[in-house]
Amino acid sequence: MALYRTQAIVLRHCNMGEADRIITLLSREYGKIRAVARGVKRPRNRLIGGTQIFTYSEFLIFEGKNLDNISQCEIKESFFKIRDDLEKLTYASYMAELINEFLPEREKNEEVFFLFLKTLHWILKGNDIELIARFFEMKLLLLIGLLPYMESCVYCGGSLEEGEIYFNASMGGAVCSRCFRMGQESMQIERGTLKLMRSLAVIKFEQLALIKTSLNLKQELERVMRSYITYHLEKKLKSLEFLNKVKNKTMT
Ligand SMILES: [Zn+2]
Repeated sequence: MALYRTQAIVLRHCNMGEADRIITLLSREYGKIRAVARGVKRPRNRLIGGTQIFTYSEFLIFEGKNLDNISQCEIKESFFKIRDDLEKLTYASYMAELINEFLPEREKNEEVFFLFLKTLHWILKGNDIELIARFFEMKLLLLIGLLPYMESCVYCGGSLEEGEIYFNASMGGAVCSRCFRMGQESMQIERGTLKLMRSLAVIKFEQLALIKTSLNLKQELERVMRSYITYHLEKKLKSLEFLNKVKNKTMT
């Protein structure tokens, strides 16, 4: 049976039988893959460390008839400090779920791999985690070809430099005041929110700290992104419910 080696980050795992787990990996070489970690729920199993959520490891995998099997893994970065912090864990879980939902299996996307790896580093550093989440969403949408249209009205192509601005998930982006009634559920947004969206789509991680924004705009952007992502996935993400709980806790 063929063996292959790959660098990958653990996106999720689920139990299979008494001792095994199916691990979903975001790999650099093969995109999203699923493989079984045999005996990983038994104490002192050699695959325990490398198959923890968000752990970045080098994996040796052999192909199976149905599912592949993890033969070895060597930890490159454990990111255990993310798992130890409820807020960081919750946000990283949300991002992992986004990747898992949006990426098809076995389709190489090295850029998404590096986006997630870098995002985990930035979460560790403890910067503005809300803004990191929005940045991540925007970059992920860009990399999978689903970036919302923000340059002009998505419906008529008219300028958005004057007048009220709306956002419509089903239309695919920003809409002008003449067209917003064409689609259901247009939401009016601040000019600052549109600017923030445009910036997040083009800046690099290192420039994130330079972004000046307000709580108001960040909250509005969150609503915009939620509506857009939910529209495209056609479902609510499981991790969002938990994320909301954690947020409410930290706000009170
Ligand atoms: Zn228009």
